[in-house]
Amino acid sequence: MAAYARLECTKKATGARPLTATSTTGPDFVRSIVAEDVKQGRNGGRVVTRFPPEPNGYLHIGHAKSICLNFGIAREFGGVCNLRFDDTNPSSEEAEYVDAIKEDVRWLGFDFQGREYYASDHFERLYELAVKLVRDGKAYVDSLSAEEMREYRGTLTEPGTDSPWRGRCVDENLNLFRRMREGEFAEGAHVLRAKIDMASPNINLRDPVMYRILKAPHHRTGQAWSIYPTYDFAHGQSDSLEGVTHSICTLEFEDHRPLYEWFLEHLGIFPSRQYEFARLNLTHTVLSKRKLLQVVTDGHVSGWDDPRMPTLVGMRRRGYPPEAIRDLCDQVGIARRENTVDFALLEHCVRDRLNRTAPRAMAVLDPLRVVIDNYPEGLVEQMDAVNNPEDSSAGTRTVPFSRELYVERDDFREDPPSKFYRLAPGREVRLRYSYIVKCVDVLKDPATGEVTELRCTYDPDTRSGSPGANRRVRGTVHWVSALHSVGAEVRLYDHLFTREDPDDTEADLDFTSNLNPDSLRVLRGCRLEPSLAAGACGERYQFERLGYFCVDKDSTPGNPVFNRTVTLRDTWARIERTIQGR
Ligand code: ATP
Ligand code: MG
Repeated sequence: MAAYARLECTKKATGARPLTATSTTGPDFVRSIVAEDVKQGRNGGRVVTRFPPEPNGYLHIGHAKSICLNFGIAREFGGVCNLRFDDTNPSSEEAEYVDAIKEDVRWLGFDFQGREYYASDHFERLYELAVKLVRDGKAYVDSLSAEEMREYRGTLTEPGTDSPWRGRCVDENLNLFRRMREGEFAEGAHVLRAKIDMASPNINLRDPVMYRILKAPHHRTGQAWSIYPTYDFAHGQSDSLEGVTHSICTLEFEDHRPLYEWFLEHLGIFPSRQYEFARLNLTHTVLSKRKLLQVVTDGHVSGWDDPRMPTLVGMRRRGYPPEAIRDLCDQVGIARRENTVDFALLEHCVRDRLNRTAPRAMAVLDPLRVVIDNYPEGLVEQMDAVNNPEDSSAGTRTVPFSRELYVERDDFREDPPSKFYRLAPGREVRLRYSYIVKCVDVLKDPATGEVTELRCTYDPDTRSGSPGANRRVRGTVHWVSALHSVGAEVRLYDHLFTREDPDDTEADLDFTSNLNPDSLRVLRGCRLEPSLAAGACGERYQFERLGYFCVDKDSTPGNPVFNRTVTLRDTWARIERTIQGR
């Protein structure tokens, strides 16, 4: 495996993060474990993983890391990966999310081959397993209120206290648990708890709740159940029932592992094993579904698929290729150390992919009219333009050239600073794929003084193929023909949050105080070369000199809308050079 420099920001409590370069070689620790298990013939050499989203929101780029890991390992070791919906909490889950999650997994490039599971598929079996624990004296019905349970639980430094109901006999527990299922009791009246150890230093082992009464309808089982298993009871047992060999999750579940193993051992069922890795964190964004939901419901963005969102639907709409997201996950690697990845690395991956694949085109975002005085009126010439210099198979296209053009307002300065090699009074530039022109006059709005039009002359000898085609001038600018160009709306995006760590806030404020008020800029009246009018939703282009852009779903016939996916300037490459030079 190639070694590559990597930049990590190590998270500190203060939010200040030193940058350290590390390099990754060889398989990560999870793959090493799996390889060893296969070598030793454990589980008959089978590898079964799973990706277990809770359908209570859209997937974000953190989930992509988990998807790439779980599906990637299954693929590499000739195993399978289940897509398991962890749908044990009916109140916050919706079928809309299930459909979106399936689409996102496929879009990212992974095929679950019909291996679509739901924790709710296992509800009957989970109930039977819970009954077995009750029979064995390993679980009991507790009737403390939620608040009392909290008091009895103790703290990190003090042991908990046994509930007065802990001594209920098996028959009474079986009877109450059955009646809980039948809907006889109100929510909160009872819970089923594992009988482990109220004095355990690990709070997860202090008689954790296995079932609670919830009278909410479930998106798949409807009104069939009045009790629902907790994550801790459902997750490991679902793994086991599906024969999952390697249950890979994020570090916050490390302290739950002893409980995971306690259930499997006392139930005597298939011994799935749990392994934990560090979650993906990204600068300038939050990767928590709860917070992302708040950003959506408070109207800070237009929806889960707003191109500023770190969700997979948002990134797709923004124009990020799925390959780029997979590249990022590869580069970040799998480790146990918490780290935060610089957003610039993600953008670097996006640019790298798009540079190879996106057709080039010309677009003018802030048009300034140019009239070429010595160009014949009514003449239109078709200029040959290269579609992708990185890909010769992409061929060429023609772009119409005429007497009236638009150039970028920013490509003209009346009073050019030194090293400004674009248009200025008396200056020559090459128009990309076309002639050299000279600015001979500047027209202004008499009221405001704003430049409204440039008058130019062209050198007819300088078109490609002509004797003067190789005449060199210092600047080249892009352009479109005024008459032939199409109008468009273009949306420019910046980070959703101003701070690297959005949770780093002033006292009494929450993460939303760090939302970037300038994260979206809408430009109307942009002009595109005519070939761009035909772009279908999701198609990606490089607008020469401006960046990568993608057709948005808000486009209507004759009114294209483009999202800027990413600029051309690669801040990541610069950061990397700085590190290597240290
Ligand atoms: P969130 O914090 O966004 O609510 P979650 O862990 O509650 O995330 P789940 O739907 O339960 O969301 O996650 C499904 C899987 O994705 C889990 O195995 C979880 O560990 C993993 N996952 C979630 N967030 C990340 C992340 N930032 N990096 C890597 N894996 C993640
Ligand atoms: Mg979760």
